[in-house]
Amino acid sequence: MSAASSGEKLIAGIAGYLSESRKAVVFTGAGISTESGIPDFRSPGGVWSRYRPVLYQDFLASEKAQKQYWVMKKEGYRELKGAKPNDGHRALATLEAAGRIVAVITQNIDGLHKDAGSKRVLELHGTSRHCICLECGARCDPDLVQERLEAGVEVPRCDKCGGLLKSGTVSFGQALPADVLTDAIELCIQTDLMLAIGSSLVVEPAASLPLQAKHNGARLVIINKTETPLDYLADIVVREPIGETLTRVIKRLRLPDLTIDQ
Ligand code: ZN
Repeated sequence: MSAASSGEKLIAGIAGYLSESRKAVVFTGAGISTESGIPDFRSPGGVWSRYRPVLYQDFLASEKAQKQYWVMKKEGYRELKGAKPNDGHRALATLEAAGRIVAVITQNIDGLHKDAGSKRVLELHGTSRHCICLECGARCDPDLVQERLEAGVEVPRCDKCGGLLKSGTVSFGQALPADVLTDAIELCIQTDLMLAIGSSLVVEPAASLPLQAKHNGARLVIINKTETPLDYLADIVVREPIGETLTRVIKRLRLPDLTIDQ
């Protein structure tokens, strides 16, 4: 069998699973957004390879750590700003609109799933789309915080109360949002089809959510450019580019093609 026809068989397999599924859930990691030009923070050249991440406890305790945190955030925000959803994000929004998937659980903080039109998005690691005051809980626009950082402010403060601001993303040492995690686990217990996309499935809870789904009888599809520790459990594994793969699945399902560049 040629590579192309075996590839087509995998696409047909995924489309078939989606047709049979009643409550499919998608789990996404950095890999879906690298196709939008956002570097995986963990990859060489990513922000985390150049800076030691600031632990949440240190951020709370020390001004030095706060300054270091915002140096890193300022640079990271430049990478995120202007990124647009790609065919992969748009295909998932199309699948949700067509009732083929019920939710997207993501490790990404870039907001691109919502930009693409996905409605039910569970952001396990929070979002870069707002900053939050740790004193009064007020949210503010990260663009305005970025302006201040670019103008030389080292530790931005809340306009309302003067409290410490922090990005809406979850830091190392900071608990994942409990309500989001609870919803994600519930979805994984109930689902009959889990598509794990663009995640190496190594870091928790990335590793255990698809596992939870599989243990509760769901089918598991993994789309990722490299091997994952759960490949042996998967019903289908695809190592091709995500946007292209999902676009082919959409075509196969004969869903309206929303994946035209805007
Ligand atoms: Zn405040």
